[in-house]
Amino acid sequence: MPTPLIAGNWKMNGSLTLVEDFGQAFADADLPEGVEMALMVPFPFLQAAGRAFAGSRLALGAQTLSDQPSGAFTGEVSGEMLRELGAGLVLVGHSERRTLFGEDDAAVLARVRAALVVGLRPVLCLGETLEERDAGRTEAVVLGQLEAVCDALAADERTRLVIAYEPVWAIGTGRTATPQQAQAVHAAIRTRLAAYDAGLAEGMQLLYGGSMKAANAAELLAQPDIDGGLVGGASLQVDDFLAICQSAG
Ligand code: PEP
Repeated sequence: MPTPLIAGNWKMNGSLTLVEDFGQAFADADLPEGVEMALMVPFPFLQAAGRAFAGSRLALGAQTLSDQPSGAFTGEVSGEMLRELGAGLVLVGHSERRTLFGEDDAAVLARVRAALVVGLRPVLCLGETLEERDAGRTEAVVLGQLEAVCDALAADERTRLVIAYEPVWAIGTGRTATPQQAQAVHAAIRTRLAAYDAGLAEGMQLLYGGSMKAANAAELLAQPDIDGGLVGGASLQVDDFLAICQSAG
């Protein structure tokens, strides 16, 4: 069984005060054993968060990275810079990056490679739009996004991924996939991973994301192929995020 992982994605939200609040709360809280926890904070908060989370079990993550190692790329942030600030994880292919910033499968793959090269764990996000689901194309879309990355990686690189299934229609909408809907897609992802390698499929942390909150986390996390959560809105409230982490224990 993969170790459960609950990762928060603050998106372009939060503050230095909230960073301190989370550091304090997670240092003090009675946290479940055997659960990994992480927060993906905006770039400007990474250094402060690295310090604030240092004494806690909260790992540090970023929300994107450049596909380039360095150079004349104004406004970009490299994987090496993220490592220097203490990040261990980075989101890649979040639907907001795909739709709002035009990151296609090739761009996602380039960022996954850039993360792996510097030792960051890429959290590869996959998900279908409502139109794609209604057209019966959920599996084709999600597995297509998965293959666009996994086909191009070496076996040892695939094992360093985390995968997050995030139906686009459930992100930030308050509309959560039912546990059965999420489980069905997670099972399809795991089956596809098994075609690469059985051990890869067994060990892969498959997170669900899309309006996960304290009230629905336990039921989602109880599904056999859901190993954790990628949490947006509810990761901005210390108590809600702590409660979701507790549900994974
Ligand atoms: C996300 O941003 O990855 C996400 C799942 O957001 P929310 O939990 O707010 O739907």
